[in-house]
Amino acid sequence: MDCKFASNPLDQLFVTQKFGERPEFYRKYGMAGHNGVDFRTKFPDTPLGRREIYAVDDGIVSKVVIAKLGGYGTYVQITHCDGSMTIYGHQYNPHVVVGQAVKAGQIIGISDNTGDSTGPHLHFGYRRANANMNNGYKGYVDPMPYFKN
Ligand SMILES: [Zn+2]
Repeated sequence: MDCKFASNPLDQLFVTQKFGERPEFYRKYGMAGHNGVDFRTKFPDTPLGRREIYAVDDGIVSKVVIAKLGGYGTYVQITHCDGSMTIYGHQYNPHVVVGQAVKAGQIIGISDNTGDSTGPHLHFGYRRANANMNNGYKGYVDPMPYFKN
């Protein structure tokens, strides 16, 4: 996955918080700012913000955490074939288990407002293979250039 993601993580990408924003808030996590991108999940057809989340590329589910409070809350991490990984935070209900192979565009869960979150949204994080873990964002980079549109 060294160019674009094969799929988007939601059927519409409406950014509510960009990468690197709010450094004062993310200091408690030891980061220079927001280490991903937040997308709106509350739309007229999903008034509770519970929207289908899709794997952005083929991979293996490497982590599933169920948590109401703190950080990403309930989240799924996928490791892709090139060693990069993606994270899908603040979920309601993951639809995958650790070790499961997923395809680009496959539903991996439903979004919500779990964890350190003030409203329903999807937090999407992207860490490339051999990432610089000291880049101020724990290796994460801005995923926006990797979306198809
Ligand atoms: Zn976020």
